Amino acid sequence: MKKLIVFLLPLMAIMFCQAQSNSKALRIDFYRSGNDCTEMISIKQIAVQNNLSVGEHAWIDSVNYGFYRIDAYNSQGDLFFRRGYSSLFNEWITTDEAKTMSRSFQESVLIPFQMGDIKLVFFNRDHSNVWHKQFEYSFNSESDQVLQKHFHKYPVEELSVNGDPFQMLDILFIPDGYTAEEMDDFKNDAERVMKDILDSDPFNEYSSKINFRAVMAPGEESGTDFPHKNIWKETLLNTTFNTFGTERYLTTFSYHTLMDVAANAPADHIVILVNTDEYGGAGFYNFYSLAAAKNAYTNFLVEHEMGHGLSGLADEYYTSDVAVNDYHPTHVEPWEPNITSLVDFESKWDSLVADDVPIPTPKKEEYKDQTGAFEGAGYLAKGLYRPAYDCTMKSVKYDNFCEACKRAVSSMIRWYAH
Ligand SMILES: [Zn+2]
Repeated sequence: MKKLIVFLLPLMAIMFCQAQSNSKALRIDFYRSGNDCTEMISIKQIAVQNNLSVGEHAWIDSVNYGFYRIDAYNSQGDLFFRRGYSSLFNEWITTDEAKTMSRSFQESVLIPFQMGDIKLVFFNRDHSNVWHKQFEYSFNSESDQVLQKHFHKYPVEELSVNGDPFQMLDILFIPDGYTAEEMDDFKNDAERVMKDILDSDPFNEYSSKINFRAVMAPGEESGTDFPHKNIWKETLLNTTFNTFGTERYLTTFSYHTLMDVAANAPADHIVILVNTDEYGGAGFYNFYSLAAAKNAYTNFLVEHEMGHGLSGLADEYYTSDVAVNDYHPTHVEPWEPNITSLVDFESKWDSLVADDVPIPTPKKEEYKDQTGAFEGAGYLAKGLYRPAYDCTMKSVKYDNFCEACKRAVSSMIRWYAH
């Protein structure tokens, strides 16, 4: 028995070290700057961090969603990581403000640690959805340029952990506008939101495939900013209503701070809960989802924003005021899985439509509960189509995803939870 222990201990140590090194990541923080005509990327810093959450099966993003894409090549010149995402910048450049001034926004990418030379290639889409190379950056992961930084450590609550981060979808709750005295309150909010997520379709089918954690990171003051009411709070992520002049649009611009806080735990997707009862939220694909934690519709807000943030879904509404202009093209097929211009409907939810439902689908009572292609979606009354009369991506209703949205959310969960 003693010999066996002597033999097993080094083996276990090797296995442990491998597990540790596998969760090592490189984080590249950068700025995306410009206006409606020009765009520039500049690197802020590269740092080593732990808590990589993406299993090797999911290193190369195959869904091709997002307005931006970053490819990473190793020292052999092989593509080992690809991630599509959207951010505040791609929305801001369609606002009126971007016609008159330039601004910088924070973005980051987290890639699996690789030894030696690494090349990053940055892409954006044009209005015809064609990818264009924007910028290329090479560095050596063993050089002094790479910071061995120790991010501020916060306690992490494991709300529901079902398995190895590499084989699960890891959702990480991060607070904003909660003080140290309000951390129990944040934990209660996070637990309530987790339950709401797991009680809704299609998340209810995957409860054993999702890990939920919460970073207990307090801020100085309670609440959030309401610029239109001249209310300003000193909070961890400096979240604010009235983003781009839209009152209910609640976001954070402090992405690098958000990444520092998120470095405390594995995170395939970050959900920021803001300590306010005012209605508001935001979601950016592979960037973050954010919602007011104490509103009567928080359950809907979280689901809707995660529709954007986790699954790349578009808004299906077309009547509300938004700050963005000409956001979705109608002459090509949009990349979002739940809207179509009918240019390439077969690539969308065509297979979910019954034979006797016409495309486009007339707004008649007989098709009200059917999956079809109903005109009006993505902030446009004409030229874009949505899968159903109603959906959580269209109006304020919790647990009401249409069939196309359910399928997109399910396939995203399965992609992470291999
Ligand atoms: Zn939908």
